[in-house]
Amino acid sequence: MRQIDNFIAGEYRAAASGRRFEKRSPVDNTVIASISEAGRPEVDAAVQAARAALHGEWGGLTTDQRVELLYGVANEITRRFEDFVEAEMADTGQPSHVMRHVFIPRGAANFKVFADVVKNVPTEAFQMATPDGAGALNYAIRVPKGVIGVICPWNAPFLLMTWKLGPALACGNTVVVKPSEETPNTAALLGEVMNAVGVPKGVYNVVNGFGPDSAGAFLTQHPGVDAITFTGETRTGAAIMKAASEGMRDVSFELGGKNAGIVFADADFDAAVDGIFRSAFLNTGQVCLGTERVYVERPIFERFVQALKLKAEAVKYGRPEDHAASYGPLISQEHKCKVLSYYAKAVEEGATVVTGGGVPDMPGELAEGAWVQPTIWTGLPETAAVVREEIFGPCCHIRPFDSEQEVVALANATDYGLSTTIWTTNLARAHRVAARVEVGITWINSWFLRDLRTAFGGSKQSGIGREGGVHSLEFYTETRNVCVKL
Ligand code: NAD
Repeated sequence: MRQIDNFIAGEYRAAASGRRFEKRSPVDNTVIASISEAGRPEVDAAVQAARAALHGEWGGLTTDQRVELLYGVANEITRRFEDFVEAEMADTGQPSHVMRHVFIPRGAANFKVFADVVKNVPTEAFQMATPDGAGALNYAIRVPKGVIGVICPWNAPFLLMTWKLGPALACGNTVVVKPSEETPNTAALLGEVMNAVGVPKGVYNVVNGFGPDSAGAFLTQHPGVDAITFTGETRTGAAIMKAASEGMRDVSFELGGKNAGIVFADADFDAAVDGIFRSAFLNTGQVCLGTERVYVERPIFERFVQALKLKAEAVKYGRPEDHAASYGPLISQEHKCKVLSYYAKAVEEGATVVTGGGVPDMPGELAEGAWVQPTIWTGLPETAAVVREEIFGPCCHIRPFDSEQEVVALANATDYGLSTTIWTTNLARAHRVAARVEVGITWINSWFLRDLRTAFGGSKQSGIGREGGVHSLEFYTETRNVCVKL
């Protein structure tokens, strides 16, 4: 069993209280790690270490020197690729090919991409006229915001954490990370990488624990934290926003979604089925950008439902290291209970269960894991809880529609606004619908195709602010204007 401690000022430290909590494998529910729970003293020490680094060696580096270190971090992650794959698989139980092809390489890329961004993005300058005719010159400089509190979820832990760390560090900030209590492994491993590469002590700190009355709340309430970046549930975002209002700290929020997939009858049918299958069931449906509401134009509705059903019934359950496995468990028993409660609610609300709706028959010790079946419903009104609320599981409700206007209204009838995926071969319509769906990210004939330089974030209750490319600089730096009278 792994022992995971907090990482403060370049050292692994157990909490003075001696408090530890367990991490169980999603695959078979065995205990796989014991984690030290940071209390207020450890959070305070981490924030102090981050502050000291800001005013120490790290703060004195040139942009080029910082960028070189971040390239080194990316390369060291790649060198220790198997360790990261193994750590992430242990935490999430997801198939190794997803770790190998998406989550870990993208984690390394997050350091390189933002190192390039800070090197190459200019700041603005304005010349202005003055009454004496000599004029003045304004130019902007960007400075790091300071100590950034980074609060992470469990669904793609390494990718989502590095998505924040890459730009935060590239911009010259220091960080205190609070990984999800469900997925502490890769954040701990990254401490070894930072030390191996020579990132100064205190630049990267990790405090483990939970949310309320634990490390998450202690960190977000800490007056030494200058800004908070958070990915997680909308409800948690509201609690963090209250904490951030003390001291007027800035926030960047990537929150929940109840995303619509829209399939027109003229779509490339097989590509649309594949796309919606991925968007509903990848990572066992635990993707914020995932599709839990699918709207299919009536002429192809029945055929589409049957095709998606066949694919959902063909998933291969298995341990992450089993190369034949295409589908993993949910993150935890607690989340399994939540998802199954929605499966029961769908039936109570009168859904037709096209496929799934329960727990698969798993062999041996896997029977103890957090497995649930991929599930498809039809026949529910838009007012049903499973059509309105984010479930964050491998499930979707499919409804027919008859017109473009109707489907745009259906897609927009939600408090969330993260992403949508639109399938059609009519280009004019694709652009038209994309402009009218109230979300931060729209994919046409694709899903989860990410260029890290583009804006990422949600509308409505799905988030505050945008990250990605230059947009990340807006959050992770302060822009100062200097006005020179000529
Ligand atoms: P969560 O909100 O339960 O927890 C996220 C993190 O916040 C954890 O580290 C948790 O310990 C911490 N936390 C909880 N309460 C806190 C508090 N009061 N103060 C400070 N920290 C607190 O979310 P989760 O279950 O880990 O992740 C799933 C959610 O994340 C889903 O809603 C999903 O849509 C969302 N998500 C959004 C995006 C996006 O980019 N928009 C990406 C991934 C996940």
